[in-house]
Amino acid sequence: MKKLNIAIDGPAGAGKSTIAKALAKKLNMIYVDTGAMYRAIGLHCSRKQIAGDDAQAVEAECDNIHVSIVYENGEQVVCLNGENVNEQIRTAQAGSMASAVSVHKKVRAKMVELQKKLAADTSVVMDGRDIGTVVLPNAEVKIYLTASSAVRAKRRYDELTAKGQDCDLETLKKEIEERDYRDMNREISPLKKAEDAIELDTSELSIEEVVETMMKIVAEKAEK
Ligand code: C5P
Repeated sequence: MKKLNIAIDGPAGAGKSTIAKALAKKLNMIYVDTGAMYRAIGLHCSRKQIAGDDAQAVEAECDNIHVSIVYENGEQVVCLNGENVNEQIRTAQAGSMASAVSVHKKVRAKMVELQKKLAADTSVVMDGRDIGTVVLPNAEVKIYLTASSAVRAKRRYDELTAKGQDCDLETLKKEIEERDYRDMNREISPLKKAEDAIELDTSELSIEEVVETMMKIVAEKAEK
């Protein structure tokens, strides 16, 4: 297959990473989880006790943060200053911190540059909030995944409890709605559907059904 980039955007818990991973595997492409990169920056700031909304402090710290991506057995590993932080970034708190630090200009510029580089020479399935609009505006396939906030909160709840993390469904729903609001209303690269993206509501669909639908979309685009 010729080089093809697939951009998947949407709010937290819409199923982006599960779907993107499955799609990448089927198509033998690299999966790039851009949220993980913002989570790593959030984690670094938490460790330094820098408030996510302190623009000056977060931006000043940016030069001390080196985020890199490596692949081990086909899995994306996010390294924060050389340390594998894949596990530490998977908490609800890390998600909220990522959302707070990702509004800042310098953080976004640094991450977008890295993401563009990752997709320059290789076919990727990349997910995030601004992939179809800012990072890969020329992606051959753009999908905008959504689902109701109740469904998305329940998915996160199941995911976190399966890992043994203690959480409360109502609190998760509130956190997701706050995160959506911030992601959709920030000044730089807000979460929005690219004009040429195909919107898919996954509330009532199984993972297999969404992947199947997306495989059809990709096949149609690849033919053109
Ligand atoms: O996708 P995930 O939930 O891991 O993303 C965490 C946070 O990182 C999001 O709520 C969003 O604020 C930010 N993010 C972003 N742009 C991306 C990916 C994630 O601003 N491309």
